[in-house]
Amino acid sequence: MHFADFYRESIDDPQTFWRRQATLIDWHKPYTEVLDYAKPPFARWFIGGETNLCHNALDRWIATQGDMPALVAISTETRSEKVYTFKELLAEVSCMAAAMQALGVGKGDRVLIYMPMIAEAAFAMLACARIGAVHSVVFGGFASHSLATRIDDAQPKLIVSADAGSRGGKPIPYKHLLDAAIDLAHAKPASVLLVDRGLAPMQMVAGRDVDYAGLRVRHQGQQVPVTWLEANEKSYILYTSGTTGKPKGVQRDVGGYAVALAASMKYIFCGNAGETYFSTSDIGWVVGHSYIVYGPLIAGMATIMYEGLPISPDPGIWWSIVEKYRVTRMFSAPTAVRILKKQPVEFMKKYDLSSLKTLYLAGEPLDEPTSSWIAGELGVPVVDNYWQTETGWPILSIAKGVEDIPSRPGSPGLPIYGYKVRIIDEVGGEDCTANEKGMVVIEGPLPPGCMQTVYGDDQRFVQTYWTQSGGRHIYSTFDWGIRDADGYYFILGRTDDVINVAGHRLGTREIEESISSHAKVAEVAVVGVADQIKGQVAVAFVVLKRSDDAATPEAGRALEQEIMAVVDRQVGAVGRPARVVFVNGLPKTRSGKLLRRALQAICEGRDPGDLTTIEDPAALQQIRAMLEARTAQAVN
Ligand code: AMP
Repeated sequence: MHFADFYRESIDDPQTFWRRQATLIDWHKPYTEVLDYAKPPFARWFIGGETNLCHNALDRWIATQGDMPALVAISTETRSEKVYTFKELLAEVSCMAAAMQALGVGKGDRVLIYMPMIAEAAFAMLACARIGAVHSVVFGGFASHSLATRIDDAQPKLIVSADAGSRGGKPIPYKHLLDAAIDLAHAKPASVLLVDRGLAPMQMVAGRDVDYAGLRVRHQGQQVPVTWLEANEKSYILYTSGTTGKPKGVQRDVGGYAVALAASMKYIFCGNAGETYFSTSDIGWVVGHSYIVYGPLIAGMATIMYEGLPISPDPGIWWSIVEKYRVTRMFSAPTAVRILKKQPVEFMKKYDLSSLKTLYLAGEPLDEPTSSWIAGELGVPVVDNYWQTETGWPILSIAKGVEDIPSRPGSPGLPIYGYKVRIIDEVGGEDCTANEKGMVVIEGPLPPGCMQTVYGDDQRFVQTYWTQSGGRHIYSTFDWGIRDADGYYFILGRTDDVINVAGHRLGTREIEESISSHAKVAEVAVVGVADQIKGQVAVAFVVLKRSDDAATPEAGRALEQEIMAVVDRQVGAVGRPARVVFVNGLPKTRSGKLLRRALQAICEGRDPGDLTTIEDPAALQQIRAMLEARTAQAVN
């Protein structure tokens, strides 16, 4: 089939198109209507249908492949490896679901999951899905302040966590961060369920904290029936950064998400039941939700959960996993490939990688040298895919399962079925011509699986993402892009203050708020600066209350360390700026708006562009001089 026809039908006749895709999953009760778009921009899919994500991920496969691997949990941090078959995984999930129910969790209750990449994290997510509880996974790299904001927004009845994560062989204790977050938060969870890995001591809070090991013994073997949910009920909340310091809770449904994932596994990721899928992401990010936990399992595939670095114990670790588990489809991020590119290629060549059919990369721009290097070394196609936490599955890619269209260097590909993607002019909202830069937008309704709303705040959803033009509702991705004459899209970076470090999306506001809390800081601006490995890194420009606090290089370095430690404690290591530069003033317009793009341009050695509106040109001059001095210092 030609992709163009497939795509066209999805746009011209979404009802027929998605009715066909809906047969890819099990329904407990059939839906009565495919799409309800009576209240745009809110789209409701598969109205009245009842289904369950956990049923589609597990129960559905028991009869045909119950004894086949479902989850392979590998940790090079704790040197452990365990394979769970579909039957075993279902048993673990049921046990965790029973434990949650015993703690009073029921349908619609929120459960916050703050966990490292261990099997129990997946059990917890699937257990929530099974009993209709709404999970909110918070990335383990976030610290107390970030966690507290998310606790207050989601108001979880239960938090599931662990004693520690681990990185580079060093335990990273979680419990004290969690306790501090709960102290900071106004909404206190009734219970905290803790998985003790024996990596770090835990102070248990009486009456609130429960050790999972004990509950597991009590509930082992217990069967927990699936709670059937109407397709538009909530499945999860996943917080993502935006322009404000307050992260947005991206809320997803049940039925549309299950259908979208099942379809994407067939047409984009081309996964077959019985094969193994390996996504190197983390459950704290959207890729982990869609393509570590739900997507592969819904497709009947075994999924690999990997805790550890890509280069430890040696840079061959991922390829050894591909060989051992006969991985057919692998999903990673350009940053990881750039890290591996710096390693001797023998580590890859040592292994039999003949099972691997495709490598998928997403999360940040994929540069041509990185893409062609890995494609050449692996001898398999590399498929870029562009999407966002908000959409839950790819917006742009090449759907090889429909038609094997060639990809184009530097382009994630073509609009995927269901997405009416356009590039529009920032000012007038008119469609751009070929090769003209504009904003990447999607005309509503968004297809199944995309965010339903901002959790608890419909108005914020509408105001943040949507505009109306000519009676149409237009969703903004907040990315710049161009489309070439053949319809291939190219992504040129964000239009807002979101930065992308190693494929991790961070709001500069959150980092700025944290740095501002340091007693010596008067003002701060954080910008994303191009980096050869990580794509971007955060650089903080700080104006001190007393400039002589950083008068000597030693004092400056000490203060830089202090500021980084504040970010570590509050936001988490993921937000730590790569550099802190002390300046006398920040470049602003006369109306007081920070000239971020000018700052970024100077850091990247580019021309800062039109500066006619700048209040104090000396501020920018000083920053340029500071950066040059630092570079000279580093070289000497
Ligand atoms: P997140 O919500 O964390 O997945 O981040 C989404 C953002 O990451 C997008 O809005 C883009 O700015 C960027 N992004 C994701 N995938 C790609 C890609 N394949 N190419 C370029 N940028 C990407």
